[in-house]
Amino acid sequence: MQKQWKGKRVLVLGAARSGIAAAAYLNDVGAIVTINAGSEPTAEERAKIETLGVRSIFGSHPLTLLDETDVIVKNPGIPYHIPLLQEALTRHMPIYTEVELAYLATDATFVGITGSNGKTTTTTLVHELLKGGTRPVHVAGNIGFPAIEVASKAQADDIIVIELSSFQLMGVEAFHPKAAALLNLSEAHLDYHGDFESYADAKGNLFRNMTDADRLVVKRADAEVMKRVPEQLTAQTFGYEAGDACVTDGWITLHGNAVIPVSELALGGAHNVENVLAALLLIEPFDIPRSHVERVLRTFGGVAHRTENVGRILGRNVYNDSKATNNVATEAALAGFTSPIVWLCGGLERGADLASLIPAMARVKAVVAYGETAERFKTLGESQGIPSFAVDTLEAAVPLAFRQSAEDDVLLLSPACASWDQYKTFEERGEHFVDLVRKYEEANR
Ligand code: ADP
Repeated sequence: MQKQWKGKRVLVLGAARSGIAAAAYLNDVGAIVTINAGSEPTAEERAKIETLGVRSIFGSHPLTLLDETDVIVKNPGIPYHIPLLQEALTRHMPIYTEVELAYLATDATFVGITGSNGKTTTTTLVHELLKGGTRPVHVAGNIGFPAIEVASKAQADDIIVIELSSFQLMGVEAFHPKAAALLNLSEAHLDYHGDFESYADAKGNLFRNMTDADRLVVKRADAEVMKRVPEQLTAQTFGYEAGDACVTDGWITLHGNAVIPVSELALGGAHNVENVLAALLLIEPFDIPRSHVERVLRTFGGVAHRTENVGRILGRNVYNDSKATNNVATEAALAGFTSPIVWLCGGLERGADLASLIPAMARVKAVVAYGETAERFKTLGESQGIPSFAVDTLEAAVPLAFRQSAEDDVLLLSPACASWDQYKTFEERGEHFVDLVRKYEEANR
């Protein structure tokens, strides 16, 4: 498949890690590569590009580049409305993302996972589960290495588990996973896609080349998800209540066969039960020994910052869900607990309507809000008769949250907001939270 790039003039858009990985691969297989980014790269990125020896243009996207281009490979974050891409579309020029490139670069088997929420958790879980089989397995995308880097090293017998955003799925054509899941669909990233339909259709692109010999996995209770299953194909469904994988009498059940009790899953929360059900359907075609599956389900406690169990601290069960940057993710986290919750929330103000959180707040006993949205969360809590507080920072919020909680309560950071008012990333916010919790424990032991 690599032959197809020989002598092709490829314009790589975006100079971050995956763009550089794409340029390196294309250069190796004989393409004539130009790398172009709208902003200046970091010193580190510039040094890497110089080592490759490919042409580079930074600071703008000159339209004249298109006169010397056969194919565009773009970073998923670059929107289609920039003039260069609009012009490329008018000229019917192929525009791919790195996933397509990765797919074309290897004969390995792909397992793809997309959805509005739960992608990283499910991808990581599927990777852990597949490790119990005989075939080498790799994880690519958001976690792990750029897909093209993984694919260019993979052997034909390998499996590549990949988390796919809607942005990546906009730029696929031949990509054909052996197993794929669309976990759920909710309004997100509308600023990029313009409207829900085009966002959801991009996610549906995952299935476009699949056949009945492949494994399609979808959430049965999500009508928008079900609409994206191609008419001629049969999907396997999961759902808490019903589906090919579901919960029956408190047990995780696959095609009617009990696997393990929900109470023995290391992952907490109802949304994670759905992720487990989806993962089991995805790995079914790969014949993983049951003992391995059970072991992973009993020990895999989740990925950092995603309703991550921080531990029992001064008698409270503390969870870091810093990755929850929108209402839907936080609703899932709040709804996942049965004990009283002291809820730490807030962050960047984006003007989101907070009302959709109300139904999930039944177990919230105190709201401790901080950041730009602090006052709005306080008002939300008070509207439900819940003691609510607004402070400036997490430093102030953590001790207050401990004081509002009692033995056995859940203390949950699930901000429902992006972190950028006070932090560079959600990881930095989550790490700061865990650090403050540990310090409070030290000081109050
Ligand atoms: P993604 O990679 O899609 O952003 P993650 O696995 O990183 O998803 O989880 C992000 C947040 O979304 C978690 O903190 C959790 O609160 C929530 N979440 C996880 N799985 C689900 C699900 N199946 N449905 C709804 N929300 C979920």
